[in-house]
Amino acid sequence: MDSKREELIKYFKQQKELGVEFYFNKTEKADTVHKQIEQLKETNKSAGDTEMPKNTNQMNLLDSTAEKMTLDEISEEIGDCTRCKLHEGRTNIVFGEGNANARLVFVGEGPGRDEDEQGRPFVGRAGKLLTKIIHAMGLQRTDVFICNVVKCRPPDNRNPEADEMTTCGQFLTKQLISINPEVIVCLGSIASKYLLNHKGSLGSLRGKFHDYQNSKLLVTYHPAALLRNPNFKKPLWEDMKIVLKELQLPVPGD
Ligand code: URA
Repeated sequence: MDSKREELIKYFKQQKELGVEFYFNKTEKADTVHKQIEQLKETNKSAGDTEMPKNTNQMNLLDSTAEKMTLDEISEEIGDCTRCKLHEGRTNIVFGEGNANARLVFVGEGPGRDEDEQGRPFVGRAGKLLTKIIHAMGLQRTDVFICNVVKCRPPDNRNPEADEMTTCGQFLTKQLISINPEVIVCLGSIASKYLLNHKGSLGSLRGKFHDYQNSKLLVTYHPAALLRNPNFKKPLWEDMKIVLKELQLPVPGD
């Protein structure tokens, strides 16, 4: 088999695994097809330059037959996970917590030191601020579900890396399918970019709803950013008002 043909077959196989189907007119010449594929590879390469994780998990979301698991089943599947290098430094897996039928889910980036120690999401300084925000919305933590893109603490609280997000993000995807909330709030740019597969700035993404599966997704500042810059408080509260209105809940102070 000549190498061009082998290369084409390999490429088709890889794409098929990712769920991409190709249909060719029989009269199309191999050279033309090869050229198109080279162009496609270039496009994929430049998309890769944006440092976005290659998010193949989203493919599941387009498949209406995607399996819906309970949160317990997802937790069981995660098990004593060693799928990525983050397991090496963790004390506890932070699965997430709250109402399995929540209408509203908050998604952060990954556990910090306190979360790692306690095995619970958003319990440190930023977490306490998130709890205050939830209370200010007239809700309790038990009314909503709170989780992260990655379930193990990244060393020194660095940002999760693309491979870690891709590996662990499949469980976030499953959690969101299981809960099927009306609204998802992404806290900060890591969660937003992961779920929206978008390279826009947080400023350009926030303030409006995006579609995510059956849910409406809203991007806002991470509570840790508010601790550093109190100027973010007002826009964050504006975002929470949009969420409350969408859920047809009273907006405190309005
Ligand atoms: N920051 C996050 O993104 N998640 C947590 O659980 C805690 C802090």
